[in-house]
Amino acid sequence: MPTNTYDLVVIGAGSGGIGAALAAARAGLRVLLVEKSDMLGGNATRCGVNCWEPGVGGTGIPFDIYNRMKRIPLAVGIYSSGRHFMWQRPDEAIPYPGGENLIDPALGYADSLLRHPPRPMPRPELLEFRRLHNHGVPFEPEALAQVAGELLAETGRCIVLMNTACTGVVMRDRRIAEIKLADGRAVTASFYVDSTANVLLAQACGCETMLGQEGQAAFGEPHAPETPQDHLNGATLIYRVTPVESPGVEPLPPDIPDGCWWAPKFPVAAINHYPNGDLNVNMLPTMEGREALTMGYEAAYAECLRRVYAHWHHNQESFPEFRGYRLNWIAPGLGEREGPRVVGRYVLTERDLLAGLSDQAHDDIITIADHALDTHGKSTGRAGTSEFYQPYGVPYRCLLPRDADNLLVACRGASFTSLAASSCRLSRTMLQLGQAAGSAAFLALELGVDLADVPPARLRAFLREQHVQLDWPTPPDLLAYLRNEDQEN
Ligand SMILES: Cc1cc2nc3c(=O)[nH]c(=O)nc-3n(C[C@H](O)[C@H](O)[C@H](O)COP(=O)(O)OP(=O)(O)OC[C@H]3O[C@@H](n4cnc5c(N)ncnc54)[C@H](O)[C@@H]3O)c2cc1C
Repeated sequence: MPTNTYDLVVIGAGSGGIGAALAAARAGLRVLLVEKSDMLGGNATRCGVNCWEPGVGGTGIPFDIYNRMKRIPLAVGIYSSGRHFMWQRPDEAIPYPGGENLIDPALGYADSLLRHPPRPMPRPELLEFRRLHNHGVPFEPEALAQVAGELLAETGRCIVLMNTACTGVVMRDRRIAEIKLADGRAVTASFYVDSTANVLLAQACGCETMLGQEGQAAFGEPHAPETPQDHLNGATLIYRVTPVESPGVEPLPPDIPDGCWWAPKFPVAAINHYPNGDLNVNMLPTMEGREALTMGYEAAYAECLRRVYAHWHHNQESFPEFRGYRLNWIAPGLGEREGPRVVGRYVLTERDLLAGLSDQAHDDIITIADHALDTHGKSTGRAGTSEFYQPYGVPYRCLLPRDADNLLVACRGASFTSLAASSCRLSRTMLQLGQAAGSAAFLALELGVDLADVPPARLRAFLREQHVQLDWPTPPDLLAYLRNEDQEN
Protein backbone atom coordinates (compact mmCIF):
# COMPACT_ATOMS: atom_id res chain seq x y z
CA MET A 1 0.00 0.00 0.00
CA PRO A 2 1.28 3.48 -0.78
CA THR A 3 2.37 5.49 2.27
CA ASN A 4 2.25 9.26 2.31
CA THR A 5 5.93 9.94 2.96
CA TYR A 6 8.68 9.48 0.39
CA ASP A 7 12.24 10.51 -0.31
CA LEU A 8 11.19 11.97 -3.65
CA VAL A 9 7.85 12.80 -5.25
CA VAL A 10 7.84 13.33 -9.01
CA ILE A 11 4.82 15.00 -10.59
CA GLY A 12 4.22 14.16 -14.26
CA ALA A 13 5.32 10.93 -15.95
CA GLY A 14 6.44 12.25 -19.32
CA SER A 15 10.06 11.98 -20.41
CA GLY A 16 11.41 14.19 -17.61
CA GLY A 17 9.37 12.45 -14.93
CA ILE A 18 10.27 8.94 -16.05
CA GLY A 19 13.97 9.87 -16.07
CA ALA A 20 13.76 11.44 -12.59
CA ALA A 21 11.79 8.63 -10.96
CA LEU A 22 13.89 5.88 -12.52
CA ALA A 23 17.26 7.44 -11.65
CA ALA A 24 16.22 8.12 -8.06
CA ALA A 25 14.63 4.70 -7.47
CA ARG A 26 17.59 2.91 -9.04
CA ALA A 27 19.88 4.80 -6.68
CA GLY A 28 17.83 3.62 -3.71
CA LEU A 29 15.32 6.38 -2.94
CA ARG A 30 11.67 5.69 -2.13
CA VAL A 31 9.87 7.42 -4.96
CA LEU A 32 6.28 8.33 -5.78
CA LEU A 33 5.55 9.14 -9.43
CA VAL A 34 2.21 10.86 -9.99
CA GLU A 35 0.61 11.07 -13.45
CA LYS A 36 -2.74 12.63 -14.26
CA SER A 37 -3.35 10.64 -17.47
CA ASP A 38 -3.75 6.91 -18.04
CA MET A 39 -0.40 6.40 -19.80
CA LEU A 40 3.29 6.80 -19.01
CA GLY A 41 5.33 8.87 -21.46
CA GLY A 42 3.47 12.18 -21.85
CA ASN A 43 4.17 13.84 -25.18
CA ALA A 44 6.29 10.91 -26.34
CA THR A 45 3.34 8.50 -26.13
CA ARG A 46 -0.13 10.07 -25.76
CA CYS A 47 0.66 13.04 -27.98
CA GLY A 48 2.12 10.89 -30.76
CA VAL A 49 5.72 12.16 -30.60
CA ASN A 50 6.78 8.57 -31.16
CA CYS A 51 10.32 9.34 -32.19
CA TRP A 52 13.56 10.52 -30.64
CA GLU A 53 15.17 12.94 -33.03
CA PRO A 54 18.88 12.53 -33.76
CA GLY A 55 21.38 14.32 -31.57
CA VAL A 56 24.20 13.99 -29.07
CA GLY A 57 23.52 13.10 -25.48
CA GLY A 58 20.88 10.39 -25.79
CA THR A 59 22.76 7.88 -23.64
CA GLY A 60 21.96 6.73 -20.09
CA ILE A 61 18.26 6.10 -19.44
CA PRO A 62 17.12 6.70 -23.05
CA PHE A 63 19.50 3.96 -24.19
CA ASP A 64 18.26 1.59 -21.45
CA ILE A 65 14.68 2.16 -22.61
CA TYR A 66 15.63 1.60 -26.26
CA ASN A 67 17.48 -1.60 -25.43
CA ARG A 68 14.50 -3.01 -23.57
CA MET A 69 12.05 -1.93 -26.31
CA LYS A 70 14.12 -3.98 -28.76
CA ARG A 71 12.87 -7.14 -27.05
CA ILE A 72 9.33 -6.34 -28.27
CA PRO A 73 8.79 -7.27 -31.94
CA LEU A 74 8.48 -4.22 -34.24
CA ALA A 75 8.59 -1.83 -31.29
CA VAL A 76 11.58 0.32 -32.22
CA GLY A 77 13.93 1.05 -35.11
CA ILE A 78 16.46 3.56 -36.40
CA TYR A 79 15.62 5.71 -39.41
CA SER A 80 17.48 7.29 -42.32
CA SER A 81 16.34 10.20 -44.46
CA GLY A 82 14.11 9.57 -47.40
CA ARG A 83 12.77 12.42 -49.51
CA HIS A 84 13.05 15.76 -47.75
CA PHE A 85 12.10 19.26 -48.81
CA MET A 86 15.12 20.73 -47.01
CA TRP A 87 17.60 18.44 -48.66
CA GLN A 88 16.20 18.66 -52.15
CA ARG A 89 18.99 18.70 -54.75
CA PRO A 90 18.53 21.02 -57.75
CA ASP A 91 17.98 18.00 -60.03
CA GLU A 92 15.46 16.38 -57.68
CA ALA A 93 11.69 16.75 -57.83
CA ILE A 94 10.13 15.75 -54.52
CA PRO A 95 6.45 14.95 -54.76
CA TYR A 96 6.22 14.76 -51.00
CA PRO A 97 4.58 17.02 -48.40
CA GLY A 98 7.62 17.45 -46.16
CA GLY A 99 10.31 15.12 -44.90
CA GLU A 100 10.25 11.35 -44.91
CA ASN A 101 12.20 9.08 -42.56
CA LEU A 102 12.48 5.38 -43.34
CA ILE A 103 13.44 2.47 -41.07
CA ASP A 104 17.04 1.45 -41.81
CA PRO A 105 17.77 -2.03 -40.40
CA ALA A 106 21.51 -1.62 -41.00
CA LEU A 107 21.80 1.01 -38.25
CA GLY A 108 22.26 0.84 -34.49
CA TYR A 109 21.49 3.20 -31.61
CA ALA A 110 24.92 4.85 -31.65
CA ASP A 111 24.17 6.13 -35.17
CA SER A 112 21.35 8.25 -33.73
CA LEU A 113 23.86 10.27 -31.69
CA LEU A 114 26.26 11.32 -34.43
CA ARG A 115 24.52 14.11 -36.36
CA HIS A 116 27.03 16.73 -35.28
CA PRO A 117 29.97 17.17 -37.70
CA PRO A 118 33.45 16.58 -36.25
CA ARG A 119 34.73 19.92 -37.60
CA PRO A 120 33.27 23.16 -39.01
CA MET A 121 32.13 22.67 -42.60
CA PRO A 122 30.94 24.96 -45.40
CA ARG A 123 27.15 24.94 -45.65
CA PRO A 124 26.65 22.59 -48.63
CA GLU A 125 29.01 20.02 -47.10
CA LEU A 126 27.34 20.44 -43.72
CA LEU A 127 23.87 19.87 -45.17
CA GLU A 128 25.06 16.70 -46.85
CA PHE A 129 26.67 15.54 -43.59
CA ARG A 130 23.42 16.17 -41.72
CA ARG A 131 21.42 14.35 -44.34
CA LEU A 132 23.70 11.31 -44.13
CA HIS A 133 23.63 11.31 -40.32
CA ASN A 134 19.94 11.99 -39.86
CA HIS A 135 19.13 8.90 -37.80
CA GLY A 136 16.32 9.13 -35.28
CA VAL A 137 14.61 6.47 -33.18
CA PRO A 138 10.91 5.83 -33.99
CA PHE A 139 9.02 3.59 -31.55
CA GLU A 140 5.59 2.26 -30.68
CA PRO A 141 4.07 4.39 -27.91
CA GLU A 142 2.67 1.39 -26.02
CA ALA A 143 6.13 -0.18 -26.04
CA LEU A 144 7.73 2.89 -24.49
CA ALA A 145 5.02 3.09 -21.82
CA GLN A 146 5.32 -0.63 -21.09
CA VAL A 147 9.11 -0.57 -20.83
CA ALA A 148 9.13 2.53 -18.64
CA GLY A 149 6.63 0.79 -16.33
CA GLU A 150 8.75 -2.37 -16.22
CA LEU A 151 11.99 -0.53 -15.47
CA LEU A 152 10.31 1.47 -12.70
CA ALA A 153 8.72 -1.67 -11.22
CA GLU A 154 12.05 -3.53 -11.28
CA THR A 155 13.57 -1.00 -8.89
CA GLY A 156 11.10 -2.18 -6.23
CA ARG A 157 11.15 1.36 -4.86
CA CYS A 158 8.85 3.37 -7.07
CA ILE A 159 5.09 3.64 -6.68
CA VAL A 160 3.35 4.91 -9.79
CA LEU A 161 -0.03 6.61 -9.32
CA MET A 162 -1.83 6.91 -12.65
CA ASN A 163 -4.99 8.93 -13.35
CA THR A 164 -4.11 11.17 -10.42
CA ALA A 165 -3.35 14.86 -10.74
CA CYS A 166 -1.38 16.96 -8.32
CA THR A 167 -3.84 19.68 -7.35
CA GLY A 168 -2.07 21.89 -4.85
CA VAL A 169 0.83 22.53 -2.56
CA VAL A 170 1.50 23.79 0.95
CA MET A 171 4.63 25.97 1.20
CA ARG A 172 6.66 26.85 4.29
CA ASP A 173 9.77 29.04 4.14
CA ARG A 174 10.48 28.49 0.43
CA ARG A 175 9.99 24.73 0.85
CA ILE A 176 7.17 22.44 -0.17
CA ALA A 177 5.72 21.06 3.07
CA GLU A 178 3.21 18.77 1.32
CA ILE A 179 1.41 18.36 -1.95
CA LYS A 180 -2.24 17.58 -2.53
CA LEU A 181 -3.42 14.90 -4.92
CA ALA A 182 -6.75 14.69 -6.70
CA ASP A 183 -7.62 11.51 -4.75
CA GLY A 184 -7.68 13.65 -1.58
CA ARG A 185 -4.34 12.53 -0.21
CA ALA A 186 -1.62 14.81 1.07
CA VAL A 187 1.90 13.55 0.40
CA THR A 188 5.25 14.67 1.78
CA ALA A 189 8.82 14.06 0.69
CA SER A 190 12.32 15.36 1.24
CA PHE A 191 12.44 16.58 -2.35
CA TYR A 192 10.06 17.09 -5.28
CA VAL A 193 10.46 17.16 -9.05
CA ASP A 194 8.14 19.12 -11.30
CA SER A 195 7.91 17.26 -14.61
CA THR A 196 4.50 18.57 -15.64
CA ALA A 197 5.87 20.31 -18.78
CA ASN A 198 3.94 23.49 -17.94
CA VAL A 199 5.63 23.71 -14.52
CA LEU A 200 2.34 23.54 -12.65
CA LEU A 201 4.00 22.56 -9.39
CA ALA A 202 6.56 25.37 -9.57
CA GLN A 203 3.78 27.83 -10.35
CA ALA A 204 1.76 26.57 -7.40
CA CYS A 205 4.85 27.18 -5.24
CA GLY A 206 4.88 30.80 -6.38
CA CYS A 207 8.02 30.45 -8.50
CA GLU A 208 8.51 33.12 -11.15
CA THR A 209 7.97 31.89 -14.70
CA MET A 210 8.54 33.19 -18.24
CA LEU A 211 6.12 32.88 -21.16
CA GLY A 212 6.60 33.89 -24.79
CA GLN A 213 9.74 35.14 -26.49
CA GLU A 214 12.10 37.28 -24.45
CA GLY A 215 13.27 40.51 -26.08
CA GLN A 216 16.96 41.14 -26.71
CA ALA A 217 17.39 43.26 -23.61
CA ALA A 218 16.50 40.35 -21.33
CA PHE A 219 19.44 38.04 -22.05
CA GLY A 220 21.32 39.58 -24.97
CA GLU A 221 20.40 36.77 -27.32
CA PRO A 222 21.49 37.69 -30.86
CA HIS A 223 18.40 36.23 -32.52
CA ALA A 224 15.81 37.28 -29.96
CA PRO A 225 13.25 39.80 -31.20
CA GLU A 226 14.01 43.42 -30.30
CA THR A 227 11.05 43.55 -27.93
CA PRO A 228 9.31 40.68 -26.11
CA GLN A 229 6.78 38.81 -28.28
CA ASP A 230 3.87 36.68 -27.16
CA HIS A 231 4.73 34.10 -29.83
CA LEU A 232 4.77 30.46 -28.66
CA ASN A 233 6.18 27.51 -30.59
CA GLY A 234 3.40 25.80 -32.59
CA ALA A 235 1.16 22.97 -31.42
CA THR A 236 0.56 19.81 -33.45
CA LEU A 237 -2.07 17.10 -33.34
CA ILE A 238 -0.15 14.08 -34.60
CA TYR A 239 -1.88 11.30 -36.52
CA ARG A 240 -1.05 7.87 -37.80
CA VAL A 241 -1.99 6.10 -41.03
CA THR A 242 -1.76 2.43 -41.94
CA PRO A 243 -1.38 0.68 -45.32
CA VAL A 244 -4.55 -0.72 -46.96
CA GLU A 245 -5.03 -3.21 -49.76
CA SER A 246 -7.63 -1.21 -51.71
CA PRO A 247 -6.39 2.33 -52.35
CA GLY A 248 -8.74 5.31 -52.23
CA VAL A 249 -9.35 8.79 -50.87
CA GLU A 250 -11.14 8.77 -47.52
CA PRO A 251 -14.09 11.18 -47.55
CA LEU A 252 -13.99 14.18 -45.23
CA PRO A 253 -16.34 13.89 -42.25
CA PRO A 254 -19.63 15.69 -43.18
CA ASP A 255 -19.13 18.61 -40.77
CA ILE A 256 -15.76 19.54 -42.27
CA PRO A 257 -15.90 21.63 -45.43
CA ASP A 258 -13.46 20.80 -48.24
CA GLY A 259 -11.55 24.07 -47.92
CA CYS A 260 -11.34 23.87 -44.15
CA TRP A 261 -7.95 25.10 -43.13
CA TRP A 262 -6.50 27.88 -41.07
CA ALA A 263 -3.70 29.20 -43.22
CA PRO A 264 -3.20 30.04 -46.89
CA LYS A 265 -1.63 26.65 -47.49
CA PHE A 266 -1.25 23.31 -45.76
CA PRO A 267 1.90 22.98 -43.61
CA VAL A 268 4.66 20.54 -44.39
CA ALA A 269 4.92 17.48 -42.19
CA ALA A 270 7.62 15.25 -40.75
CA ILE A 271 6.50 11.75 -41.74
CA ASN A 272 8.22 8.88 -39.94
CA HIS A 273 7.80 5.23 -40.76
CA TYR A 274 7.03 3.00 -37.78
CA PRO A 275 8.78 -0.39 -37.77
CA ASN A 276 5.44 -2.04 -38.74
CA GLY A 277 5.05 0.12 -41.89
CA ASP A 278 2.53 2.65 -40.55
CA LEU A 279 3.29 6.35 -40.93
CA ASN A 280 3.42 8.99 -38.19
CA VAL A 281 2.37 12.39 -39.54
CA ASN A 282 3.61 15.42 -37.59
CA MET A 283 2.35 18.67 -39.14
CA LEU A 284 4.71 21.60 -38.66
CA PRO A 285 2.47 22.81 -37.01
CA THR A 286 -1.32 22.35 -36.75
CA MET A 287 -1.94 25.55 -34.78
CA GLU A 288 0.00 28.56 -33.56
CA GLY A 289 1.08 27.95 -29.97
CA ARG A 290 -0.43 31.20 -28.71
CA GLU A 291 -3.70 30.48 -30.48
CA ALA A 292 -3.88 27.10 -28.72
CA LEU A 293 -3.19 28.69 -25.35
CA THR A 294 -5.78 31.42 -25.88
CA MET A 295 -8.47 29.01 -27.10
CA GLY A 296 -8.01 26.69 -24.12
CA TYR A 297 -7.07 23.03 -24.37
CA GLU A 298 -10.48 21.48 -25.19
CA ALA A 299 -11.37 23.99 -27.91
CA ALA A 300 -7.87 23.87 -29.39
CA TYR A 301 -7.97 20.07 -29.53
CA ALA A 302 -11.39 20.14 -31.26
CA GLU A 303 -10.19 22.63 -33.88
CA CYS A 304 -6.95 20.68 -34.46
CA LEU A 305 -9.04 17.55 -35.00
CA ARG A 306 -10.82 19.27 -37.91
CA ARG A 307 -7.46 20.31 -39.30
CA VAL A 308 -6.14 16.74 -39.08
CA TYR A 309 -9.01 15.48 -41.26
CA ALA A 310 -8.48 18.36 -43.70
CA HIS A 311 -4.72 17.77 -43.81
CA TRP A 312 -5.04 14.06 -44.42
CA HIS A 313 -7.69 14.59 -47.09
CA HIS A 314 -5.48 17.15 -48.83
CA ASN A 315 -2.50 14.76 -48.75
CA GLN A 316 -4.54 11.93 -50.21
CA GLU A 317 -5.88 14.20 -52.95
CA SER A 318 -2.49 15.72 -53.77
CA PHE A 319 -0.06 12.82 -53.34
CA PRO A 320 -1.41 9.57 -54.84
CA GLU A 321 0.90 7.37 -52.77
CA PHE A 322 -1.14 8.23 -49.64
CA ARG A 323 -4.26 6.67 -51.16
CA GLY A 324 -2.70 3.37 -50.16
CA TYR A 325 -3.12 4.28 -46.47
CA ARG A 326 -6.04 5.02 -44.15
CA LEU A 327 -6.17 7.19 -41.06
CA ASN A 328 -6.12 4.82 -38.08
CA TRP A 329 -5.12 6.91 -35.03
CA ILE A 330 -5.27 10.51 -33.91
CA ALA A 331 -3.29 11.28 -30.78
CA PRO A 332 -5.52 11.68 -27.72
CA GLY A 333 -3.30 14.53 -26.53
CA LEU A 334 -2.45 17.76 -28.35
CA GLY A 335 1.32 18.18 -28.74
CA GLU A 336 2.24 21.55 -27.21
CA ARG A 337 5.83 22.52 -27.91
CA GLU A 338 6.07 25.44 -25.51
CA GLY A 339 4.46 26.79 -22.36
CA PRO A 340 5.62 28.57 -19.22
CA ARG A 341 9.24 28.11 -18.14
CA VAL A 342 10.53 28.54 -14.61
CA VAL A 343 13.14 31.14 -13.69
CA GLY A 344 16.00 29.12 -12.29
CA ARG A 345 19.33 29.86 -10.67
CA TYR A 346 20.71 29.94 -14.18
CA VAL A 347 18.80 30.63 -17.39
CA LEU A 348 20.08 28.79 -20.46
CA THR A 349 20.17 31.20 -23.41
CA GLU A 350 21.01 31.23 -27.08
CA ARG A 351 24.42 32.55 -26.07
CA ASP A 352 25.17 29.18 -24.40
CA LEU A 353 24.06 27.40 -27.55
CA LEU A 354 26.29 29.54 -29.74
CA ALA A 355 29.28 29.28 -27.37
CA GLY A 356 29.25 25.50 -27.35
CA LEU A 357 30.56 23.11 -24.75
CA SER A 358 34.21 24.15 -24.85
CA ASP A 359 33.41 27.86 -24.39
CA GLN A 360 30.70 27.56 -21.76
CA ALA A 361 32.18 28.40 -18.38
CA HIS A 362 29.96 26.11 -16.27
CA ASP A 363 31.18 23.38 -13.94
CA ASP A 364 27.71 21.84 -13.51
CA ILE A 365 26.71 20.64 -16.98
CA ILE A 366 24.45 17.62 -16.63
CA THR A 367 23.37 16.93 -20.19
CA ILE A 368 24.48 17.94 -23.67
CA ALA A 369 22.38 18.66 -26.76
CA ASP A 370 22.77 19.99 -30.29
CA HIS A 371 19.32 20.26 -31.87
CA ALA A 372 18.78 23.32 -34.08
CA LEU A 373 16.70 26.28 -32.92
CA ASP A 374 13.34 24.96 -33.92
CA THR A 375 10.29 27.22 -33.75
CA HIS A 376 7.24 26.22 -35.71
CA GLY A 377 4.59 28.69 -36.72
CA LYS A 378 4.56 32.46 -36.84
CA SER A 379 8.10 33.80 -37.27
CA THR A 380 9.44 36.75 -35.31
CA GLY A 381 11.37 37.72 -38.42
CA ARG A 382 14.66 37.07 -36.65
CA ALA A 383 15.27 33.41 -37.30
CA GLY A 384 18.12 31.93 -35.29
CA THR A 385 20.86 29.74 -36.58
CA SER A 386 20.22 26.09 -37.09
CA GLU A 387 23.92 25.29 -37.12
CA PHE A 388 25.83 25.26 -33.86
CA TYR A 389 29.57 25.24 -33.85
CA GLN A 390 29.53 22.44 -31.29
CA PRO A 391 27.04 20.76 -28.95
CA TYR A 392 26.23 22.76 -25.82
CA GLY A 393 25.61 21.81 -22.22
CA VAL A 394 22.70 22.38 -19.85
CA PRO A 395 23.81 23.40 -16.31
CA TYR A 396 22.26 21.74 -13.26
CA ARG A 397 21.21 25.21 -12.06
CA CYS A 398 18.57 25.28 -14.85
CA LEU A 399 16.71 22.64 -12.81
CA LEU A 400 16.85 24.64 -9.56
CA PRO A 401 14.03 27.21 -9.35
CA ARG A 402 15.21 30.50 -7.95
CA ASP A 403 12.20 30.75 -5.60
CA ALA A 404 11.91 27.28 -3.97
CA ASP A 405 14.51 25.15 -2.19
CA ASN A 406 13.38 21.51 -2.17
CA LEU A 407 12.13 21.45 -5.76
CA LEU A 408 13.74 20.56 -9.07
CA VAL A 409 12.18 21.22 -12.48
CA ALA A 410 12.94 18.50 -15.03
CA CYS A 411 10.81 19.04 -18.11
CA ARG A 412 10.57 21.38 -21.09
CA GLY A 413 9.59 24.14 -18.65
CA ALA A 414 13.03 24.17 -16.96
CA SER A 415 14.99 27.41 -16.85
CA PHE A 416 15.56 28.08 -20.55
CA THR A 417 14.82 31.14 -22.65
CA SER A 418 12.22 30.59 -25.34
CA LEU A 419 14.95 30.37 -28.00
CA ALA A 420 17.07 27.93 -25.99
CA ALA A 421 13.99 25.83 -25.22
CA SER A 422 13.23 25.56 -28.93
CA SER A 423 16.47 23.58 -29.23
CA CYS A 424 16.80 21.58 -26.04
CA ARG A 425 13.17 20.47 -25.53
CA LEU A 426 13.68 17.07 -27.26
CA SER A 427 12.42 13.97 -25.50
CA ARG A 428 15.81 12.37 -24.89
CA THR A 429 17.17 15.63 -23.45
CA MET A 430 14.14 15.68 -21.12
CA LEU A 431 14.81 12.07 -20.05
CA GLN A 432 18.34 13.18 -19.22
CA LEU A 433 17.24 16.27 -17.29
CA GLY A 434 15.14 13.83 -15.31
CA GLN A 435 18.06 11.46 -14.84
CA ALA A 436 20.11 14.36 -13.48
CA ALA A 437 17.27 15.48 -11.18
CA GLY A 438 16.74 11.99 -9.72
CA SER A 439 20.50 11.56 -9.28
CA ALA A 440 20.84 14.95 -7.60
CA ALA A 441 18.04 14.13 -5.16
CA PHE A 442 19.83 10.90 -4.26
CA LEU A 443 23.17 12.65 -3.72
CA ALA A 444 21.57 15.40 -1.66
CA LEU A 445 20.07 12.84 0.70
CA GLU A 446 23.23 10.78 0.83
CA LEU A 447 25.40 13.81 1.61
CA GLY A 448 22.83 15.46 3.89
CA VAL A 449 22.80 18.69 1.89
CA ASP A 450 20.15 20.71 0.10
CA LEU A 451 19.56 20.35 -3.64
CA ALA A 452 21.44 23.54 -4.46
CA ASP A 453 24.48 22.30 -2.55
CA VAL A 454 25.00 19.02 -4.37
CA PRO A 455 28.64 19.20 -5.51
CA PRO A 456 28.59 19.45 -9.32
CA ALA A 457 31.64 17.21 -9.69
CA ARG A 458 29.93 14.44 -7.67
CA LEU A 459 26.77 14.76 -9.74
CA ARG A 460 28.65 14.65 -13.03
CA ALA A 461 30.72 11.65 -11.91
CA PHE A 462 27.56 9.85 -10.83
CA LEU A 463 25.92 10.56 -14.20
CA ARG A 464 28.98 9.33 -16.08
CA GLU A 465 28.79 6.07 -14.08
CA GLN A 466 25.27 5.75 -15.55
CA HIS A 467 26.71 6.17 -19.08
CA VAL A 468 25.36 9.70 -19.49
CA GLN A 469 27.25 11.55 -22.21
CA LEU A 470 28.76 14.81 -20.93
CA ASP A 471 31.62 15.15 -23.40
CA TRP A 472 31.94 15.83 -27.07
CA PRO A 473 33.19 14.35 -29.37
CA THR A 474 31.46 11.25 -28.07
CA PRO A 475 34.07 9.32 -26.05
CA PRO A 476 35.16 6.10 -27.85
CA ASP A 477 34.55 3.95 -24.76
CA LEU A 478 30.96 5.23 -24.54
CA LEU A 479 30.39 4.45 -28.22
CA ALA A 480 31.93 0.99 -27.73
CA TYR A 481 29.63 0.37 -24.74
CA LEU A 482 26.54 1.39 -26.73
CA ARG A 483 27.50 -0.71 -29.75
CA ASN A 484 28.26 -3.80 -27.64
CA GLU A 485 25.05 -3.59 -25.62
CA ASP A 486 23.03 -2.92 -28.77
CA GLN A 487 24.44 -5.98 -30.52
CA GLU A 488 24.00 -8.29 -27.56
CA ASN A 489 20.31 -7.50 -27.25
C1 LIG B 1 4.25 18.14 -31.82
C2 LIG B 1 5.58 17.90 -31.19
C3 LIG B 1 6.56 17.24 -31.92
C4 LIG B 1 7.79 16.98 -31.35
N1 LIG B 1 8.72 16.26 -32.06
C5 LIG B 1 9.79 15.76 -31.41
C6 LIG B 1 10.58 14.75 -32.02
O1 LIG B 1 10.37 14.36 -33.16
N2 LIG B 1 11.59 14.21 -31.29
C7 LIG B 1 11.87 14.63 -30.02
O2 LIG B 1 12.80 14.10 -29.40
N3 LIG B 1 11.14 15.60 -29.42
C8 LIG B 1 10.09 16.14 -30.08
N4 LIG B 1 9.27 17.04 -29.45
C9 LIG B 1 9.63 17.56 -28.11
C10 LIG B 1 9.35 16.57 -26.99
O3 LIG B 1 8.42 15.60 -27.40
C11 LIG B 1 8.82 17.24 -25.73
O4 LIG B 1 9.44 18.48 -25.49
C12 LIG B 1 9.07 16.34 -24.52
O5 LIG B 1 8.51 15.08 -24.74
C13 LIG B 1 8.47 16.97 -23.29
O6 LIG B 1 8.70 16.12 -22.20
P1 LIG B 1 8.31 16.62 -20.74
O7 LIG B 1 8.70 15.57 -19.78
O8 LIG B 1 8.84 17.99 -20.57
O9 LIG B 1 6.72 16.79 -20.77
P2 LIG B 1 5.54 15.80 -21.16
O10 LIG B 1 6.00 14.68 -21.97
O11 LIG B 1 4.47 16.68 -21.69
O12 LIG B 1 5.09 15.21 -19.76
C14 LIG B 1 4.37 15.96 -18.81
C15 LIG B 1 3.50 14.98 -18.04
O13 LIG B 1 2.97 15.62 -16.89
C16 LIG B 1 1.64 15.18 -16.71
N5 LIG B 1 0.97 16.19 -15.87
C17 LIG B 1 0.68 17.47 -16.21
N6 LIG B 1 0.07 18.08 -15.18
C18 LIG B 1 -0.01 17.17 -14.17
C19 LIG B 1 -0.53 17.21 -12.85
N7 LIG B 1 -1.09 18.32 -12.33
N8 LIG B 1 -0.46 16.10 -12.08
C20 LIG B 1 0.11 14.98 -12.58
N9 LIG B 1 0.60 14.88 -13.82
C21 LIG B 1 0.56 15.97 -14.61
C22 LIG B 1 1.11 15.09 -18.13
O14 LIG B 1 -0.05 14.30 -18.21
C23 LIG B 1 2.30 14.48 -18.85
O15 LIG B 1 2.27 13.07 -18.85
C24 LIG B 1 8.05 17.38 -30.02
C25 LIG B 1 7.05 18.05 -29.29
C26 LIG B 1 5.84 18.29 -29.86
C27 LIG B 1 4.77 18.95 -29.05
